[in-house]
Amino acid sequence: MSGVTPQRNVSLRSFNTLGLESRAAAFVTVQSDSGLLQALRWAEQQKLPVVPMGEGSNVVLAGDLEALVLRQQTKGREVLARDGDSVLLRVAAGEGWHDLVGWCLATGYHGLENLALIPGTVGAAPVQNIGAYGVELASMIRCVHARSVVDGSLMRLDHGQCEFGYRDSVFKHRLKDDVIITAVEFELTASARMNIEYPSLKQYLHDQCRQKPTHRDVYEAVVSIRRARLPDPQLEPNAGSFFKNPVLSERSFEALKRLAPGVPVFPQASGEMKIPAGWLIDRCGWKGRRQKNQGVHSEHALVLVNYGNSSGADLLAFAAEISESVERTYGVALEIEPRRYGQSA
Ligand SMILES: Cc1cc2nc3c(=O)[nH]c(=O)nc-3n(C[C@H](O)[C@H](O)[C@H](O)COP(=O)(O)OP(=O)(O)OC[C@H]3O[C@@H](n4cnc5c(N)ncnc54)[C@H](O)[C@@H]3O)c2cc1C
Repeated sequence: MSGVTPQRNVSLRSFNTLGLESRAAAFVTVQSDSGLLQALRWAEQQKLPVVPMGEGSNVVLAGDLEALVLRQQTKGREVLARDGDSVLLRVAAGEGWHDLVGWCLATGYHGLENLALIPGTVGAAPVQNIGAYGVELASMIRCVHARSVVDGSLMRLDHGQCEFGYRDSVFKHRLKDDVIITAVEFELTASARMNIEYPSLKQYLHDQCRQKPTHRDVYEAVVSIRRARLPDPQLEPNAGSFFKNPVLSERSFEALKRLAPGVPVFPQASGEMKIPAGWLIDRCGWKGRRQKNQGVHSEHALVLVNYGNSSGADLLAFAAEISESVERTYGVALEIEPRRYGQSA
């Protein structure tokens, strides 16, 4: 194959932020749409499934991958339309997420500030509808462009077709493993309303005496809070939040409150109640606990860290112990957030 040559039997340790060892039957980096098409054709000839991968910041590799692992590094940011103060932006899947947030801020396109410093690529961002500090990406996505892994055809999924939910989308369900996202279109505005209601963000801005914060103030606040609170995967390999925050019916929430008076809650527009999983894990005594090569971070109970040569299987067994103890104590089931490979997910 000219231009794009997959390598065989490649270690993925340096391609996932948990630093887990796993081998891919084949691995390729593509930098253009034609490269992507060539890689898909190659995988078809070799009868290998394709696993798209960005920066590997939301995966747990618990075994080898009998697949072509495909990293997209396609670049490009294009203004498609401008109307008054709103702008429609198309961004290629291989762009870095945080770079995009910084560029938008500097260019005067607002709305993404609360999502600063989330690791990963633009192409992976819609997969789990990334969210932080009270904002979900879905609210700014107009559509997603993708190529079918099955026949290489192009498709455009408008906002509704993406079926976004809390850390969820159609790309985790009906289209799981069937498409490679190639670009995302965002609707941003110069005068986007700032969302500063998230408690830690509000507190930070208050402490900094920012009565009327600018978009840059919000961006800088988010960056500072994240730097202070979240472990750097380069130093302490991790995948961010390991569990989703459970969303409970009012009835289940009432039952939980009886067992855990004072449990923090984020009421949802649906009437359901979102509970911080980290609080439950902390209350069960896991924060800061280490077991062999893995552990729960000492400052952030939602983050599991690979402290040495942990394997994906060991890490998942450790995670299972944590969720069983939370379920036993509080009757709440925790769901793992990152995509698991090499084990049923
Ligand atoms: C320190 C840290 C903090 C984090 N904080 C947050 C946070 O605040 N909020 C949040 O939502 N997430 C957070 N995350 C999780 C992660 O950063 C996001 O999920 C991010 O979008 C993953 O991007 P990635 O490129 O690393 O994707 P990967 O981990 O490489 O892939 C994740 C999934 O997306 C699929 N995928 C990747 N690229 C494509 C593509 N082009 N087309 C189709 N499927 C694709 C993969 O197959 C895989 O299933 C954090 C992670 C870390 C390590």
